[in-house]
Amino acid sequence: MKYDVIIAGAGPAGVSCALHAAAAGLNVALLDRAAFPRDKICGDALSGNVLYELGRLPGDALRAFHGLETHQEAWGIRFYAPNHQYLDLPFPRKKHVRTAPGFVMPRVEFDAYLFQRAQTTSGITIYSGESVQDVHVDRQGVEVQTTHHQLQGELLVGADGAQSIVRRQLISYTKLDRRHHCAGLRVYYEGVMDFATPASIELHFLPELLPGYFWMFPLPGGKANVGLGMLSSVVSRRRLNLRHLLNNIIYEHPTIAPRFRHARALESIKGFGLPLGSVRRQLSGERFMLVGDAASLIDPFSGEGIGNALQSGRIAAQHAVHCITEQRYSAADLRQYDEAVYTKMGMELRVSRGLQQLARFPGLFNFVVKKANRNPEVRRLLMSMYDDVDLKRELTRPGFYVRLLTSRGG
Ligand SMILES: Cc1cc2nc3c(=O)[nH]c(=O)nc-3n(C[C@H](O)[C@H](O)[C@H](O)COP(=O)(O)OP(=O)(O)OC[C@H]3O[C@@H](n4cnc5c(N)ncnc54)[C@H](O)[C@@H]3O)c2cc1C
Repeated sequence: MKYDVIIAGAGPAGVSCALHAAAAGLNVALLDRAAFPRDKICGDALSGNVLYELGRLPGDALRAFHGLETHQEAWGIRFYAPNHQYLDLPFPRKKHVRTAPGFVMPRVEFDAYLFQRAQTTSGITIYSGESVQDVHVDRQGVEVQTTHHQLQGELLVGADGAQSIVRRQLISYTKLDRRHHCAGLRVYYEGVMDFATPASIELHFLPELLPGYFWMFPLPGGKANVGLGMLSSVVSRRRLNLRHLLNNIIYEHPTIAPRFRHARALESIKGFGLPLGSVRRQLSGERFMLVGDAASLIDPFSGEGIGNALQSGRIAAQHAVHCITEQRYSAADLRQYDEAVYTKMGMELRVSRGLQQLARFPGLFNFVVKKANRNPEVRRLLMSMYDDVDLKRELTRPGFYVRLLTSRGG
């Protein structure tokens, strides 16, 4: 049996690709080394982009998502500047939409919900608990050796995350570039106090973490996802012990520690890498495409990757349909996928890279938060940057700060 598409990895990127490809009539194999439900180390924040992509998945996936009870609504972000003054920026709300504009949901639940949709979709054959061990591509097709099977297909999609074996085998292994990689830690807690009402996610841009941040995201049942993310180049230059740093923040920070006074860690601290989209990379070649973290599409400022994972999965499915229909699988044909991804996401990723660079300057951060707290127009402008990349680009331009300096309100 030869599949149209073999998808390695059944996280958000892989499932999105599988659902879109199957809806278009392709015969899909979806495989994952894990048996679901499985954990994924993450902040668990689901942005408006994620909801938009869920809305585009076949089969009313967004309605099913809203029917779940394991997520926490998120109505905005509370940004803490390095001087620990904060700014509340509510997420923009769509007219006539009553549901929350963002959510926090443990990935073990979110990914299981997505995986279950793939399991019940005809046209998708699931191989779970099977690790990809070897991939081979030639003129005749692709061959994937798993721990249990040898699968044949026309196309291969690498959706196997940050340490993608598909990327390592087909684009050659390149040494980790720490300037475009982030180290992340997560620990679930219960009993953390004083979250805002209505619930917001909190980003604390502490001076010792810049341009990274410490986060506290509320979850249902009085639980919280707590963690930090820092550029790997900074971690290695300063020879930091991140677990130590995280514990120090939780137990020693003058304004954060009191909120953990009655809290209890529900697990040991866990870590994982975030491949950032701050540099353009090769995403495809003859008969294959990379999606999600395998393609390094994480936002370099916010650390969000789930939305881009779902979106790249959708774009890869569109290209798979095109390749199969036209019977064209050359590297040149597949390169159109790279173009499509960077046309959709390139600007946002570049702007976020600019913001990440600016976030190294604590004074600038403190200044913007102070101004926005005093001037509703500045606050409104910052809010509209959530979903307007051109406005967001303004933040990376010196003129914006000059105008801010001369604006009224402190
Ligand atoms: C600490 C941390 C915090 C984060 N916080 C957020 C956040 O709050 N919001 C957000 O949007 N993003 C966040 N991200 C990023 C987000 O987790 C990723 O961008 C997202 O999971 C990418 O989805 P994916 O489907 O590409 O990869 P994954 O979710 O990693 O899925 C890859 C799948 O491939 C499987 N796999 C791997 N290797 C093999 C193999 N050899 N054979 C078979 N299967 C294999 C794995 O089992 C896994 O199921 C965070 C990341 C980290 C590390």
